[in-house]
Amino acid sequence: SAGAEVLSVSELQAWYGESHILHGVNFNVKAGEVVTLLGRNGAGKTTTLKSVMGIIGKRTGSIRFNGQDITRASSDRIARQGIAFCPEERGIFASLDVRENLLLPPVVRSGGLSLDQIFELFPNLKERLNSQGTKLSGGEQQMLAIARILRTGARFLMLDEPTEGLAPVIIQQIGHTIARLKSEGFTILLVEQNFRFASTVADRYYIVEHGKVIDGFANSELSANMDKLHTYLGV
Ligand code: ATP
Repeated sequence: SAGAEVLSVSELQAWYGESHILHGVNFNVKAGEVVTLLGRNGAGKTTTLKSVMGIIGKRTGSIRFNGQDITRASSDRIARQGIAFCPEERGIFASLDVRENLLLPPVVRSGGLSLDQIFELFPNLKERLNSQGTKLSGGEQQMLAIARILRTGARFLMLDEPTEGLAPVIIQQIGHTIARLKSEGFTILLVEQNFRFASTVADRYYIVEHGKVIDGFANSELSANMDKLHTYLGV
């Protein structure tokens, strides 16, 4: 049902080997929302997404997805629950063409988009179907990275800095894509450095600082929180 809590993270701590990175992260995402994690470089945003996806070795606290405890689940069990992660580095295979890249991630649930549905959302990818990964522009690679996870059947998408390094016109297209996915019922957890972009798509924000969530507010409360954004992000 609309507005139900889909993801609930509480007191999450995480480590890379001996390095203790997350020190108690608390936030939630409700059905149909776009929620954005903001914060400086190295604050722990990517580590938070990786923890939810189950690809960080040691994590404690609680991560619940659709009511199920996934804190210690394997990454493929988490994928089968319907969570997908689009990493900052995009992970496009250079030697594979667009079609092959699209077909690579396994379909883990019913309800995934067909290739035709994907091409309707990303018309340029259809034109580039037989182009190798290396021949794609940064924007095309980012579109492909998002498109690819839509096939899997996941309805909860985690996008890590999708606008990084892209031209303003491409950033705008990514904004339209996110808005469209939201209107189709996807729930999105976004990590962004680009606050201006985030403010065009986000329903709510959380600020991550030194491995903790230190604040959260809705887009409608933005003007009252500009001082905080200035302090924590320099925007
Ligand atoms: P960025 O935008 O730079 O990715 P972030 O908020 O996403 O920022 P994280 O990538 O989560 O930050 O990094 C948090 C901390 O964890 C940083 O201090 C970083 O140096 C450290 N870190 C990240 N990856 C590893 C790793 N594989 N091994 C050890 N430490 C890491």
